[in-house]
Amino acid sequence: MVEQKFTVPLGGHLFKGFIDRVDLIPGTDNEVAIIDYKTGGEPGPGERSRQLLLYAHGFKHLYPEYTVRRLSLELLSKPKPRVYELDGAKYVSSGVAPLDANVLAEMVDTAESILHDYRHGFERVADEGQCRDCGYRLYCG
Ligand code: SF4
Repeated sequence: MVEQKFTVPLGGHLFKGFIDRVDLIPGTDNEVAIIDYKTGGEPGPGERSRQLLLYAHGFKHLYPEYTVRRLSLELLSKPKPRVYELDGAKYVSSGVAPLDANVLAEMVDTAESILHDYRHGFERVADEGQCRDCGYRLYCG
């Protein structure tokens, strides 16, 4: 399966995503690997966790009969992909920390903050240089 869009409820909000590729793992009939292609550098641990765990959550919402056994980042600038395997309730990869399951709750908190400010308004900063690294800039205008 390629270019799988999903919308998944999480903490009372709807999160959307777009999975590059899903492979059925050979030798199984209900275990899959989710693969994301990256043309730039490797994302940091927080971004990796947010993206890959949301993809796993979104895929399981669409296809609950499947287990997401593997999450891979195909880093086109590097010789090998970064691969996380399901181990109990965690996704682990050699040499780096497991994916952080807390990120989904943090994403819900961020959605709550955006919704609050959307409803109640907020004051823009005077110096727009500060906006460059702001997580709200896509919504702020
Ligand atoms: S982009 Fe961020 S820092 Fe800039 S005005 Fe909007 S909310 Fe404030």
